Amino acid sequence: MVKGVGKFCGEEGKLIKAHIIPKRLYYKPEGTDEPLMVYSSDSPGRTEPSWTGIYDRNLVCGVCEKRWDGWDSYAVDFLRNLEKHAEPIYVQGELTFYQADKYDYQKLKLFFISLAWRCGASQRPEFSLVSLGLYQDRLKEVIESKDPDCHSFVDISVFRFDDTKLGRIHLPPSGTRFEGVNYLRVHMYGYIVYVKLDKRHRPYLFQDYTMKSGQNLKIGVRPFKGSPEEKLIKEVVSGNLPSNSFKT
Ligand SMILES: [Zn+2]
Repeated sequence: MVKGVGKFCGEEGKLIKAHIIPKRLYYKPEGTDEPLMVYSSDSPGRTEPSWTGIYDRNLVCGVCEKRWDGWDSYAVDFLRNLEKHAEPIYVQGELTFYQADKYDYQKLKLFFISLAWRCGASQRPEFSLVSLGLYQDRLKEVIESKDPDCHSFVDISVFRFDDTKLGRIHLPPSGTRFEGVNYLRVHMYGYIVYVKLDKRHRPYLFQDYTMKSGQNLKIGVRPFKGSPEEKLIKEVVSGNLPSNSFKT
């Protein structure tokens, strides 16, 4: 444990080894020998195997981490066992999306919101492309209220790669725009999570794939081959790092 000022509560105390993306998401899947590949902070431009994920010793105290511990547990089970929570939907013989008719909207959305806060608050090099500006404090307000809809700027849309092996390579989260609307994009465990941090309305392309209270959740399936992420992974591995950053 190290002493420092917790980035959530702003109080001085003992800080814990806090995972930004939950460690349990990275546990070795039963019956496989394939480690997850993460973008290396020690030797930029390389990927390395990891079972533990990325943590930050200078982020939060234990009390603050407890706020999202239950959300993490729910999300880890949901994301690792998607087939248990959602029905695969095929369109013309192709897996097009997963549909969850019964899921805990509040827990899952608060998980993604707390994930965005953690990505923005961490000063680890893997998260250096993330700078959320004013939204950093607004996300904190949402976490404190435990009401995922207390601010209307934030929307969550989730997609999953069809290649669940290569697609799991961890890429640095970064800001992106769709029709001029700002999103934070986080890759985790073969998923692409888009967090809208913008007062403007979500673009049409996200309409069907946005988490909405009281409605089923659709998780779109995307081909990994030929995706911008495939290209990005090749660039990361070859040492050409992306340079876009999130500005508000
Ligand atoms: Zn704290």
